[in-house]
Amino acid sequence: MDSVITIPALGDNFIYLYRYNQNDSLAVDPGDGSSVLGAMKKHGLNLRMILVTHHHWDHVAGAAGLKRKTGCKVIGADRRNIPGVDSVVADGQILPAGERKVRVIATPGHTRTSVCYYMEPSAGNENGILWTGDTLFAGGCGRLLECDAQAMTNSLQRLASLPDDTLVYCGHDYTLENYEFASGIEPGNQIVKERLDRVRQLQARGKLTVPSSILQEKRTNCFLRAGTPELKAALGMPHSTAVEVFAELRRRKDIF
Ligand SMILES: [Zn+2]
Repeated sequence: MDSVITIPALGDNFIYLYRYNQNDSLAVDPGDGSSVLGAMKKHGLNLRMILVTHHHWDHVAGAAGLKRKTGCKVIGADRRNIPGVDSVVADGQILPAGERKVRVIATPGHTRTSVCYYMEPSAGNENGILWTGDTLFAGGCGRLLECDAQAMTNSLQRLASLPDDTLVYCGHDYTLENYEFASGIEPGNQIVKERLDRVRQLQARGKLTVPSSILQEKRTNCFLRAGTPELKAALGMPHSTAVEVFAELRRRKDIF
């Protein structure tokens, strides 16, 4: 069975190695090449491919060096700003990774050319895997640096439409802060409170808060729930649209 190796790096980034074909791997958002090389050595892996979700340095800084050392291919959606990119991908494109298929999902919002990578289930791997970069976080979403609230809302809703049991691997460990924010927005929401307690327990034990799942995000992530009557009521915006509520949530989170 394939497996995911999570590499915490650069303070609060998550880099991932996905292992397939016994000793092959792909890396997602290698902001720090040396920690990827260390993990490859520890697990005896070859690097075949790098998937880049967006052009920010903390997601790409290790890519060119890893490509030089391993001969791997660098995949991304931005030719100008991703160093060493070999293949510029677009929405709907399918990439093979061993027996599995990786589908590119364009998710403008955090940046104009942000993409997520969805690894479809396969024989022996019943859960899909979603690499979300800085678009969807466990309990949160990325800042709107190059797009508006409408674009990000559309992107998040596309991700929310993936199967409930899809495993979500995001680009940063902001989970605790995200649920502290969410429970301040909805102090009476028991599901959010339980999630916050659980995240605190995990972190106290030195455990990771990834992966999340699409179901968990749909139930507890306020940015995915911006269109619900509960969220509208919590913000005192009963007659506003989902996008307006999302924009207000994002504004409050930016100064949280
Ligand atoms: Zn970013």
